[in-house]
Amino acid sequence: SRSDDRNARITRLVRPAVQAVQAYHVPPAQGMVKLDAMENPYPWPGELRDAWLAALADVSANRYPDPTAAALKAQLRRDGGVPDAAGLLLGNGSDELIQLLALALGGEGRVVLAPGPGFAMYRLIAAFTGLEYQEVPLADEDFALDEGAMLAAIARHQPTVIYLAYPNNPTGNAFDAAAMEAVIEAAPGVVVIDEAYEPFCGRTWMSALERYDHLLVMRTVSKMGLAGLRLGYLAGHPDWLAQLEKCRLPYNINVLTQASATFALEHGDRLRAQTDSLRAERERLFEALQVRDGLQQVWPSEANFITFRTQPGRAGGVHASLRENGVLIKNLDGSHPLLSDCLRVTVGTADENARFLVALDAAIG
Ligand code: PMP
Repeated sequence: SRSDDRNARITRLVRPAVQAVQAYHVPPAQGMVKLDAMENPYPWPGELRDAWLAALADVSANRYPDPTAAALKAQLRRDGGVPDAAGLLLGNGSDELIQLLALALGGEGRVVLAPGPGFAMYRLIAAFTGLEYQEVPLADEDFALDEGAMLAAIARHQPTVIYLAYPNNPTGNAFDAAAMEAVIEAAPGVVVIDEAYEPFCGRTWMSALERYDHLLVMRTVSKMGLAGLRLGYLAGHPDWLAQLEKCRLPYNINVLTQASATFALEHGDRLRAQTDSLRAERERLFEALQVRDGLQQVWPSEANFITFRTQPGRAGGVHASLRENGVLIKNLDGSHPLLSDCLRVTVGTADENARFLVALDAAIG
C-alpha cells in the first residue's frame, strides 16, 4: 500500500541516528503560567515597544540582510566585554552555533564530551552529525564538576569538542573555576563555555579568551529577555571562527532580528533591570521551596531556574497536577539517572511564582 511504501522508504533512507532520536518536544502552553523554558517573563514598557516598532519602519524586507551584521556585532561586542583580539560569529540562537560547531568539527570517529546532566542539544546535534557523545557524570550530591573523571575521559576519548555550560542547565550551578581551568588546559581540541545564563550569574570566562586560543565563549540573548529574536554569538580566536564561518548560512540572522536586537541592546539597561529583578525573585523562590516539607531537595541556582526533587516517585504526578492548575514547568524525571524525581521551574514574575507555589502546595500537600 501507499503507506507501507512510504514507511519503507523512510526506514531505508533516513539516517539511523536521526531515526533513533526522540524529537525535541515543546509542549503546548496556551493560557498557562509558562515556567518551563527559561524565558524572561516581563514585556517591554509601552514607550519602548513603540520606539522599537518605529525603528523597524526603516527596515527593508526586499533585500537580503547584511551578511556581516556589522552594527549588531559592534553592539554585542561592547555589551559582552568581548576582548579586542577576539572575533564574533552569530547564530540563529546558540542552538545554531552548536550545529555549526558540529558541521565544522563533526564526523565519524570524533567525540564530543560534556558533563551530565547537561543541555540536551549537545547530544542531539552530535547524533545528527555522526559525532560520538561522551558524558561524564557530575557529582551526585551537588552537581559539581568531577575534575578527575573529566581529565580521565579527556585522556581516553581525546574529544574534538568539550562543552561546559556556566552556569549549567538543568542543574543551575556554576562549576568550580579551578576545575574548569584544569579541563581547558587538558583539552586536545576546542572547549566551548556556554554562558547562556550569564545575565543571572555575573561571572564570565570572556577574558580567558586572551589566555587560550582553543577556547570559545558562547552567549545568547534569549535568557536576558529576547528569546523570540533567536540570536546567539560565539566569541573566540578569529582563525577558529573563520573556519566555522564557512559553515554558516550567509543570511542566518534576518533583518528583523538584526534591527530589533541592536535596538534592544541599545536599551540594555532596561533588560538588565529585568534580570536583576529576576535574580531577587530567584532568591525568594529558592527560600520558599526550601521550607516545603513535601520536597526532598532544592538546589541553589545561579541561573533563572531552580531544580528541585519531589518525594520518591512523585515528580510525574506533581508535574501533571501543576499543569491541571495552569502552571507549566519541566519534568526532568527520567531524563537522566541523576535527576530522578526532579522538576525544574523557571523564575517568573512575583505573581507567577506565587501562583506556582499555590499550585505546588496543592500538588504536594
Ligand atoms: N545553552 C544552554 C545551556 C541552554 O539552556 C539553552 C536554552 N535552553 C541554550 C544554550 C539555547 O539557547 P538559544 O538557542 O535560545 O540561544
